[in-house]
Amino acid sequence: MHCPFCAADDTKVIDSRLVAEGDQVRRRRECLSCKERFTTYEVAELVMPRVIKQNGDREPFDENKLRAGFQRALEKRPVSLEDIEAAINQIKHDLRATGEREVGSRVLGELVMDSLKQLDQVAYVRFASVYRSFQDIAEFRDAIERLESDSASSA
Ligand SMILES: [Zn+2]
Repeated sequence: MHCPFCAADDTKVIDSRLVAEGDQVRRRRECLSCKERFTTYEVAELVMPRVIKQNGDREPFDENKLRAGFQRALEKRPVSLEDIEAAINQIKHDLRATGEREVGSRVLGELVMDSLKQLDQVAYVRFASVYRSFQDIAEFRDAIERLESDSASSA
C-alpha cells in the first residue's frame, strides 16, 4: 500500500482492529519514509457476479427476477415462502462462492433447476420445459416419467 503523502512503497501497520460489528478491519499505518500516519479500512467483497445472457450481453444479478422465476414455477404448489427464500439464499451463496465476476445464465439456470428438483417435482418440470426447451428432451421425458411413477405409487 503506497503512502498517500509521499507515495513511498513501505508502510507498516501500527494498529489493527475490528469495526462496524466485525464487518471491517481498521488499520493505522505509518509510512517508513515520511513517518506520516493514515488509516485504511478493509471489507470483504461480496458482490454478486454479473450474468452473461445467451446473446452475450451482461446484466447485473437480479434477485427479484430470480424470485419471480421461482414463484412462477411454484405457482399453486405446496412450497412455503420460507423454503423459496432459503433456495434463493443458497443460490446467491453458490454464485458468490464461484469467486467469478461473471457467470453464464446457464450456470444460474442449472442452480435453479437443482433447487426446484429438491423443492417440488412439478415445478421442476415446469421450469425445465421452459428453460431447457428441446435441448435435453430425454431428460425432460425422464423427469415426467419419474413424476408419473411417483404419483402412481403414492395414489
Ligand atoms: Zn510517506
